[in-house]
Amino acid sequence: MKVFIHAFGCQMNKLDAELALSHLARAGYARCDSPEEADLVLYNTCSVREHAEERVYSNVGKLKFLKRRRPDVVIGILGCMAQKDQGRIFERLPHVDLVCGTREFPRIVELVEQARRRRGVLACGEAGAVREERDVRHRAHPFQDFITIMRGCDNYCAYCIVPYVRGREVSRPMEEIVDEARRLTDDGVREITLLGQNVNSYGLSFGRPGALVELLERVAAAPGLARLRFVTSHPKDMTRDILQAMRDLPAVCEHLHMPPQSGSDRVLKAMNRRYTAAQYRDLAALARDIVPGLALAGDFIVGFPGETEAEFEETAALVRELRFQNAFVFKYSPRPGTAAARLPDDVPEAEKRRRNQVLLGIQSRVNLEENARAIGREVEVLVEGPSPRDPRRLIGRARTNQIVVFEGAPALAGRLVRVRIESSTALTLAGRLMPDAGATLT
Ligand code: SF4
Repeated sequence: MKVFIHAFGCQMNKLDAELALSHLARAGYARCDSPEEADLVLYNTCSVREHAEERVYSNVGKLKFLKRRRPDVVIGILGCMAQKDQGRIFERLPHVDLVCGTREFPRIVELVEQARRRRGVLACGEAGAVREERDVRHRAHPFQDFITIMRGCDNYCAYCIVPYVRGREVSRPMEEIVDEARRLTDDGVREITLLGQNVNSYGLSFGRPGALVELLERVAAAPGLARLRFVTSHPKDMTRDILQAMRDLPAVCEHLHMPPQSGSDRVLKAMNRRYTAAQYRDLAALARDIVPGLALAGDFIVGFPGETEAEFEETAALVRELRFQNAFVFKYSPRPGTAAARLPDDVPEAEKRRRNQVLLGIQSRVNLEENARAIGREVEVLVEGPSPRDPRRLIGRARTNQIVVFEGAPALAGRLVRVRIESSTALTLAGRLMPDAGATLT
């Protein structure tokens, strides 16, 4: 049997697709590259923005012709959109056989078998932790991988649908995560990113707030691990201990994704973020003070209900001032069931677009200037392999997450090298491999 699986949305969704695939592989399924070849077609879906949902409806909508030709193919919708829309998916997409929510992945084999016998299988339970029984050999990249350390979120930011579709926050047991890290490094992984909606509160659900520091220490000790990252950090839960662990553990990279969302106190309050712009500024300063060379990444929402021009300008000022390494900017769109969806969505679409462009423009200038400052420096790069754009060159990432391209032998893939930066754009650093690099750092 062959399975085609595609994940929309965030990295956690991609990892969940791998989790589903691990279960299916044990039941004898082999992965294939197109729905046409498959006996089972699965889409792991995202509900964070309306646009993401429309893409799923459009992609899966087209599969009705496949289903007509081959009625035996099982088509399933998994994840956040399944959890949110549940039985309504069958009404809009009658050729779908299975709808499986965010906490039902471990039952995927049984659910698919049910769907083969009778169409319209709906499994969207809400309680309990997900058993993570992932086969670490199923991963997108040989040297880098992600580990889900917690699921769900208790923060209820006013715009966000995650707590409704992914449920209450539940941390995975530490032993399980450490074991997964070791299995990954035994299999050649050099860089691990720990994933959760709010990793700073890891441990809270099993009565040990602050356990992230111990988790970082234990995962960083996995033999052969060169780099460790963690995302996403909620500013309200960031602590001095975590920043000190970033500084003191050599494997932990100096890159912190800690979304401010807005620079306006009124908007932050309406978003239920539970910090002010001044507190965010202080935290960013503290983080940069404790962790030398820290690169900060942030997410921003423009056009939140009632956001005035002056409030938007406060956000623009924050982006100018804090000089993020990356700023991901999203236009607000109401998500049904969230607190913000009850507010009038009163910033016109064209204005949201303009604000989005303004922030991206500021960020692009920051990137251009900051990357130019890297010229002449040597940076440590984890080599990913030949550059997709120019296979004669290699591509990799610095500890601070910038993309670095340089000439070198493809055999360096998976190794740490040093590259002297010679030129830059807003998105990339380019440089020269230091002669003794691979030998000394690997
Ligand atoms: S912290 Fe806020 S934005 Fe992040 S997942 Fe939780 S509710 Fe959503």
